[in-house]
Amino acid sequence: MGLGLNLGMLKLFRIFVLLFLVSSLYAQNSFNFNVIKKGIDDNNTLLVIGGIQGDEPGGFMSASLLSTHYDIQKGSLWIVPNLNFYSIIRRDRGPYGDMNRKFAKLSKQDPEYETVNKIKSYIKDSKVKLIVNLHDGSGFYRKVYEDELHSPNRWGQCSIIDQKSIDVSCYADLEKISTQVVEHVNKNLLRYEDRYHVHNTRTSEGDEEMAKSLTYYAINQGKAAFGNEASKDLPTHERVYYHLLALEKYMEIMGIEFKRKFELTPNGVYDALNNDIYISLYNNKITLPLSEVRNILSYVPLRDDNIVDFKASNPLLTIYEKDGFYVVQYGNRRLTRLKAEYKKHDNKNVAVDMVIDAKLKSIPFGSIVDVDKSFLVKDTKDYRVNVIGFSTSNDKETEIYISKSNIPKRFSVDNQGLIYRVEYYTKSSKKEHNDKFAGMVLVKFGS
Ligand SMILES: [Zn+2]
Repeated sequence: MGLGLNLGMLKLFRIFVLLFLVSSLYAQNSFNFNVIKKGIDDNNTLLVIGGIQGDEPGGFMSASLLSTHYDIQKGSLWIVPNLNFYSIIRRDRGPYGDMNRKFAKLSKQDPEYETVNKIKSYIKDSKVKLIVNLHDGSGFYRKVYEDELHSPNRWGQCSIIDQKSIDVSCYADLEKISTQVVEHVNKNLLRYEDRYHVHNTRTSEGDEEMAKSLTYYAINQGKAAFGNEASKDLPTHERVYYHLLALEKYMEIMGIEFKRKFELTPNGVYDALNNDIYISLYNNKITLPLSEVRNILSYVPLRDDNIVDFKASNPLLTIYEKDGFYVVQYGNRRLTRLKAEYKKHDNKNVAVDMVIDAKLKSIPFGSIVDVDKSFLVKDTKDYRVNVIGFSTSNDKETEIYISKSNIPKRFSVDNQGLIYRVEYYTKSSKKEHNDKFAGMVLVKFGS
């Protein structure tokens, strides 16, 4: 199931996550999780975990949105949006078995041993006082059987505790906190069927499976820990809507203050998840908007040393190599595949002159420029210019007014045929300095 990738085929490159000042060097075949710390560290830290199982996008997309679309104005919030990143990329519940059953004991030989140990150290950190693990469960949890989809055996739409309370100094009354969260969610239901309940698994009374879980490990470390479940029977953006309602209540209970950058409605969540996502390559030589990107982009001037340096607008975006393509992946979804045209790269990043709708402008590489009617690329002695898809009988493509109708739609970056590539290559009499890729500008026509 899933994308059918083999571990051996995957190759990850350096990842820099743009908005978080997180930059990590990924070794080949490693999909380490991110820890994004927001606000100012204190001894009242909330730890939010998403993606322990890769087929539960409501959970990990919520954690990701929390990291990109919330400003923390008071308090301390740590977010792990992609605990089992490899399983997310594979869209597989657990390529090495269920990670949420690995917290009681685990062989050192287990491929996830290091990941589990690392998240345990964050759980144990003395700053962390409350932990929420996000899940998507099937159906709708009910205390009493209603039908197959709404029953005590279902996991969707509930707040999970392992027991009523724990013997610690803060947030000890798990049931009370869980009840407050459930009440808050239930005040904001999209439909009555979605209502939340407290689900006490009474783990210590003999639930052997739950005793191996992350939250049970956490409460045994003296941490208040909760599972939050949205229903797999809802579309992803509605699951995220419910998770965020719950998370905002946990923050309120802990005195963590935030400012959200979108409206918490199903539409607001949908837009925040799907718009303004992009990846930037090679220190901004290329910026690719991904919201409406084509399935395949050809002749992408990637560096001939086979290293793809990128920054992403959120922590669930990554690039890996597979079957001769560079796959741009966003959580469970493959957004596009890049077919490389390997080039030597020029190190300089400069601004270039273009006439946009009759106005001369200086435009840095990596920009996306809005064009109403036409653009013209100014000639330059340093660079040869290639407007991808545009052809002319002139010997160069500069100093010509180009409008949307001059470029066949199939060359666009996006599905609507609005965004086109203008690429710059070095001109030099010295062969070793000639024809290096220098940078790309995207021109975006109005619809
Ligand atoms: Zn789960």
